[in-house]
Amino acid sequence: QTFESFGLHQDILKAINEAGFTEPSPVQAEAIPLVLQGHDIVAQAQTGTGKTAAFGLPTMSMIDANQNRVQLLVITPTRELATQVSDELYSLGRFCGIKTVTIYGGSSYSRQIGLIEKGASVIVATPGRMLDLLKNGRLPGFAPKMVVLDEADEMLDMGFLEDIEEIFTYLPKERQTLLFSATMPEPIKRLASKILHEPKFVSI
Ligand code: AMP
Repeated sequence: QTFESFGLHQDILKAINEAGFTEPSPVQAEAIPLVLQGHDIVAQAQTGTGKTAAFGLPTMSMIDANQNRVQLLVITPTRELATQVSDELYSLGRFCGIKTVTIYGGSSYSRQIGLIEKGASVIVATPGRMLDLLKNGRLPGFAPKMVVLDEADEMLDMGFLEDIEEIFTYLPKERQTLLFSATMPEPIKRLASKILHEPKFVSI
């Protein structure tokens, strides 16, 4: 399997090349075609398997950066992970002109909102701050067509499950949802059955 065989956008292939990725990792080989076909997925994958690119490459390949609206929302458990994911998405999406904003607690609302209003296509957020912005009506017209939950089991352990369920009440019903988790405890399975539509399962 090669990255060229998936039908990813040319500018994404260029970024893959620049990053020095020569072949897809197992989770990428399974997930990328399913995501490009429009499926919801549940992927059981640990950190270090290339999971960020597994959701980042196909979702960003489907973004139209000229639209100047948020098309992809990635929710991560911690500020550190949000920053790390954001950096990787920036590097993989930069030739497409995709702008990414990182949203987390403890930093200025107005700065983060300003960056979103300047035409970001991707938001990477922690649950608390994301819910804050939505609840307070700070993101009018917010309707990402793709949503990723990264390290869902970690978010469960940190007590974010209720926030996540509430975030989903603000998201469009017509959307593609991807759930990544290292383990699949019962509460995550129940969450998956609520927010995913006929998901395909990826396990490596
Ligand atoms: P992750 O599992 O997303 O934390 O990724 C672990 C590391 O692997 C990151 O530094 C990625 O940049 C790198 N990586 C992801 N996919 C590939 C690939 N196909 N080939 C080589 N390195 C990769």
